[in-house]
Amino acid sequence: MRHNKRGGAGRAPSRPTGLPVDVGQSIVTDIVGLTHEGEGVGRVDGYTLFVSQALPGDKVRADVASVGKSFGRARMTALVEASPDRRGAPCPIFDACGGCQLQHWDYAAQLRWKRQHVADNLARIGKLPVAPLDGGAAAGGGDSAPDGRPPVVVHPIIGMDEPWRYRNKAQVPIGTGEGGLVGGFYEQGSHDIVDMEACLIQQQENEDTVRIVKAIARSLGYSAYDRATGRGLLRHVIVRHAEATGQRMVVLITNGRDLPHRDELVGLIREQVPGVESICQNVNTAASSLVFGEETRVLWGSDVIYDEIGDIRFAISARSFFQVNPIQTERLYSSAVQYATLTGEETVVDAYCGIGTITLFLARHSRRVYGVEIVPEAIEDAKRNALLNDIHNAEFAVGAAEVVLPRWQAEGVTPDVIVVDPPRKGCDPALLETMLQLKPERIVYVSCNPSTLARDLRILEDGGYRTIEVQPVDMFPHTTHVECCVSLIRK
Ligand code: SAH
Repeated sequence: MRHNKRGGAGRAPSRPTGLPVDVGQSIVTDIVGLTHEGEGVGRVDGYTLFVSQALPGDKVRADVASVGKSFGRARMTALVEASPDRRGAPCPIFDACGGCQLQHWDYAAQLRWKRQHVADNLARIGKLPVAPLDGGAAAGGGDSAPDGRPPVVVHPIIGMDEPWRYRNKAQVPIGTGEGGLVGGFYEQGSHDIVDMEACLIQQQENEDTVRIVKAIARSLGYSAYDRATGRGLLRHVIVRHAEATGQRMVVLITNGRDLPHRDELVGLIREQVPGVESICQNVNTAASSLVFGEETRVLWGSDVIYDEIGDIRFAISARSFFQVNPIQTERLYSSAVQYATLTGEETVVDAYCGIGTITLFLARHSRRVYGVEIVPEAIEDAKRNALLNDIHNAEFAVGAAEVVLPRWQAEGVTPDVIVVDPPRKGCDPALLETMLQLKPERIVYVSCNPSTLARDLRILEDGGYRTIEVQPVDMFPHTTHVECCVSLIRK
């Protein structure tokens, strides 16, 4: 048994005392909020409890599962009174899968919460004055902060008209079930794989492709990879569907280079999967949970499929990062281009540029654009995509944005606009520092995480920029993810 630092030998650390609830206790609470992870927020005598699957407006009974000094967790045991926005989740495996968190919530309520969530983060973490969301008297500039600045406008989120079947890529883990090879999702909190017939946020084409490929793999007697033993052939099936061209890609991730019945496999997929243009194998023998291995081979067809966002065409290879919701991506990037307010004369930097998606949009409207990205393959894709679209005023570099931007600065690149689209952890502090030194007229911040966004906006504000407006876009309906595009100008 471990020794607890202060409590002496053999005693488990004691739980905080003096709390209004204890583990195992059954409580009833009104749910007053929702966390970023999708847990309902309840309060018992001022103490905060997170209750999974509970929604704002619900009154629930729950068993307290754990308590800490400032909050605890509880498991819902009964719905005492349902929120008027509560719905039956249409997906039969909603509870077990965990891929979506909000299917049981009316879509309009999801959208209201996402906008509010952005505004709350800007105010709480970013310490920014935010205009009232209800369009009240003070909205749009009336409600000045103490220093006289107009408040930040958080626009209503752009939702989807039809918020289902939007994903253009499916990544399906393969395992062994009762009837042999299965593929679907990891059961929450385990490495067991549950078979999945349908996924309502997947494009129908992907759902069909996955079903066909699983059936073919079974008919060829393929075994499923087993994490525990490191044996078995098939680890993952990845399928993509390009909405604009109808092209499909199938990637089999295998535990080794050997692929029995390869010709039959290719023949059957070509016969049964409409629009298939690319069949690839990726070899991953590592024990890690990373999906892809280093080696990708084309089994048949092209190494890429082509998709379009707006009037730009993209080549997408097996491992390329490409936004998964094509309809909403176009709307998000349109906001980015709009906030960049380009006349065709500007020099623009796109940090965290991926395969050049935003960069190429910007290139059409500016004099010269520089894209930087840390993954070398993505930059190869970006260059190829520039040529594909006959775009010659875009320059791409591999490296960390916080390293490459100072180099460009030393070479005399003076951007009028800097666009950033960082991963969830936000911008590197060194990059923010360089941006402040480069002093572009405008900054456009595309963010997939409102809390790191708010943190970074505070730094940019303190460094001489003013946040003007925020356009949230619902890229991932029925999940708690919130994406937004922000415009800043130099004071
Ligand atoms: N703008 C692109 C990609 C956004 S995702 C699009 O919309 O498609 C964020 C990208 O940042 C990823 O491609 C990731 O590889 C890259 N990245 C992560 N850390 C980075 C860093 N320090 N410097 C440059 N790029 C980085």
